[in-house]
Amino acid sequence: MIPRLFLIPLLAPALATLVLFLLLGWERDALFVSLATLASSALTQVAARGALKRQLLSLARQVRTRTEGASSSGTGEDAQDRLEEVANLQGAIDALHQQLTTRNAGLNQETRTLTAVLDGMAEGLWITNAEGTVVRHNDALRDMLQTVGNINGQRPLALLRNEALNEAVTRACREGASTRLELTLEGLFSRTLAIRVTPLGRDLPGSAAVFHDVTELRRLEKIRKDFVANVSHELRTPITAIRGYAETLQGGALQDPKVATKMVDIIHRQSERLSELVEDLLELSRLESREVKLQVTDVPLAVAATRAAEVVRHKAQGKKITVELNIPPGLIGRGDERGLEQVLLNLLDNAVKYTPEGGRVTVLGVQEDGRCVVHVRDTGVGIEPKHLARIFERFYRVDKGRSRDMGGTGLGLSIVKHLMSAMGGEVRVESQPNEGSTFTIFLPAAVPSAAVAG
Ligand code: ADP
Repeated sequence: MIPRLFLIPLLAPALATLVLFLLLGWERDALFVSLATLASSALTQVAARGALKRQLLSLARQVRTRTEGASSSGTGEDAQDRLEEVANLQGAIDALHQQLTTRNAGLNQETRTLTAVLDGMAEGLWITNAEGTVVRHNDALRDMLQTVGNINGQRPLALLRNEALNEAVTRACREGASTRLELTLEGLFSRTLAIRVTPLGRDLPGSAAVFHDVTELRRLEKIRKDFVANVSHELRTPITAIRGYAETLQGGALQDPKVATKMVDIIHRQSERLSELVEDLLELSRLESREVKLQVTDVPLAVAATRAAEVVRHKAQGKKITVELNIPPGLIGRGDERGLEQVLLNLLDNAVKYTPEGGRVTVLGVQEDGRCVVHVRDTGVGIEPKHLARIFERFYRVDKGRSRDMGGTGLGLSIVKHLMSAMGGEVRVESQPNEGSTFTIFLPAAVPSAAVAG
């Protein structure tokens, strides 16, 4: 809607034109009428353009005055010239305005794109001025520093309390030197950041620092290193024993049949342990690399548990441990048959291994909420709560000596966990020291609840 004030400059030239029409007549003074019309249209356009409005209105008044004066003298050239000037001026202003608008829009677009790119980066970034004060940063940096406070306007030392980083920023600002460094932020969630600090450039004073979160990378590196160290250690133990006894036999013990038999027995046991370890390592590596293709079928869990119990029966009998199976025949899980047998075997083997003589191991199967649930319960040594979260890790043992003495590789539960998750299930543990443990596996059921209940 046009504001009322504008009506005056808009209507005035039109009225002037009308008056000229009446006074002079179209044929006689068409030039003046045209001039007046031009003036009116020029005014109509510029009236809306703020700063020029007053100047142009004054020009228009002059034109009208001269036009009226010129009707008697018969000349309007001055007015014509002024109007052309006005028109040129307006054209130039329009062009300039257009250029500025386009440039502004371009700059806005660029700034928005840059901000979106910086905020979309996984790496944190800050820019400092020549004094080393942060003047700009992206969203990722805030997440990495885990701060809700102001970052802009702060010095590196205040933000991270790290002298090395502070020095790197100073060096970049003063000497134009780049630095790489790594630091660990302690806290609820400790983080390791790899940082590169560089000067902004010759014409731009200040520095930029890019922060990479390498926490996960360093964690995986540590797991890999620990794994290699563990494997070497685990392999070395039986190999050293085998070599030692073989050398003793070579050195003369072979002549004493009693001693020789004992040593050969040990060599045999240790070689079995070595082969178990290699088997477990290969199985784990296949599972982790998802090399093994599991054949998911309907598996009657009672059958799988009976087969696994067969394998440990001899060991259980040796320790006078009762193994009781209580799984309804209709309890059918969806999973890989061989994988499920392996899971139940590892759990039963542990239950027998960590239960003292005369104990009891019970396997109980039920169907709950569309899932098959199998509990493997023992009356053994149990596990302290602080170890529960870690026993599914590779080579983690509550009692290293006991586990090795009993022929454990430290990989059994890790394999169970991988197999269960590959079959879309899971494994959990509940245990109390000296009261026994219950390992429970959950697996998708193949048969609806009603069928099992019946
Ligand atoms: P291991 O070959 O040493 O038995 P596992 O991965 O099978 O390795 O188990 C890891 C650790 O968890 C064992 O060393 C043992 O300390 C503990 N553990 C596993 N099962 C039981 C159990 N039924 N009772 C008590 N401790 C157990």
